[in-house]
Amino acid sequence: MDFGFTEENVNNNIPEVILCKFGEVVLKGANRQNFESALVKELRRRASPFGTFKIYFKQSTVYVEPQDASCDMDGMYEVAKKVFGIVAVNRAAVCEKSMEAILETAEKYLPEKLRGKHTFKVEGKRSDKKFPYKSPEISARVGGVILSAVRGIRVDVKNPDVVVGVEVRDDFAYIRAGQEAGAGGLPLRSSGKGLLLLSGGIDSPVAGLMMAKRGMEIEALHFESFPYTSERAREKVLTLAQEMTEYCARLHVHVISLTHIQEVLRDNCTEDYFTLLLRVFMMRLAERCAREYRCGALITGESLGQVASQTLAALAVTDGQVNIPVFRPCIGLDKEEIVKKARAYGTFETAILPYEDCCTVFTPRHPKTQPRLEDVMAELKKVDFDSLIEEAYSSMYTVTKLVYEGYR
Ligand code: ATP
Ligand code: MG
Repeated sequence: MDFGFTEENVNNNIPEVILCKFGEVVLKGANRQNFESALVKELRRRASPFGTFKIYFKQSTVYVEPQDASCDMDGMYEVAKKVFGIVAVNRAAVCEKSMEAILETAEKYLPEKLRGKHTFKVEGKRSDKKFPYKSPEISARVGGVILSAVRGIRVDVKNPDVVVGVEVRDDFAYIRAGQEAGAGGLPLRSSGKGLLLLSGGIDSPVAGLMMAKRGMEIEALHFESFPYTSERAREKVLTLAQEMTEYCARLHVHVISLTHIQEVLRDNCTEDYFTLLLRVFMMRLAERCAREYRCGALITGESLGQVASQTLAALAVTDGQVNIPVFRPCIGLDKEEIVKKARAYGTFETAILPYEDCCTVFTPRHPKTQPRLEDVMAELKKVDFDSLIEEAYSSMYTVTKLVYEGYR
């Protein structure tokens, strides 16, 4: 039998593949084909460090088949869980489409996978309706094999420790013990590009990845205030950006210096407005960067009421400064919820390293929480806004594109 790959590659000589199930993508009518090929491409781009795999789409599933014995299935499986657009991932044994082969494979493949589990149920599924056994019969027969091969295990159809899936598809049958959630969302680059205002904090990397999950390609802009912010603070941001690439695959980081703007604000404006005024500059510079790099939206890590510059009144002021959609996916999340996401995305530990951010330089003792637009505008009139923007924007430099390890 030809599975398209050699048999020695797997435990017990049973060919094994990784199956990645589509999520929401299934619903997208006309766009569906684009999404499918985006997902296949994304998996292919990430596969090279783990060996040679055949990756293709069929029956709402991406099949990832190892081509030789040296393939790192564990590594490939872990990486597949980070690909947006995939709702569930599992490893499955592959066998011929006969009841005999299914039972024999189940007997060899499943006991090791079910070790230590107390209860299970089998979900048989016959996608190929020409297969002579119906789903309940497949489930019952495979269940019988498990009961005699795994000592002490019981059936529990309501709340099993493991769901064993047996699926008879067009070409082969697939047997798996359990599956894990994938990253969900939509495939990268299926929803345009957004410019993330990336600080060194907990919130902005999460915000960027939440939008990447909705299919956005991410570009990042970081503001520094050298020498008030240090070299190490910049390194920290680049580390965060590199960590983000595990999910968003690649990322340009643009850096703009706010040093002069901050000094001018400090020398000319009312202290209570410093942070807010700085944020106005940030938004305007970000808008310009977004236009230059063809980003259709700005993304920030703001969360309503979290700090003085994130009250409704303050957000209304900064929002009004730009003519581009501003996405704030963390806006309705509590800090604990954001932290939980940061941990899941793997950015938390770096984000809590204690380096200063430009927002923490010259912080007002009593920042305005209920700013009035007229007052902010009056403060801005005290400085030469346009030339400050011009000067800061011309300081922009771009860090070489950061790419996920092995990404092609
Ligand atoms: P974070 O945890 O993301 O730093 P925060 O709660 O500290 O957020 P602020 O410092 O007020 O909040 O920043 C709000 C948002 O403004 C950030 O989430 C980020 O999108 C943007 N921002 C703040 N500082 C910078 C910076 N130095 N460079 C780029 N963007 C920034
Ligand atoms: Mg911050």
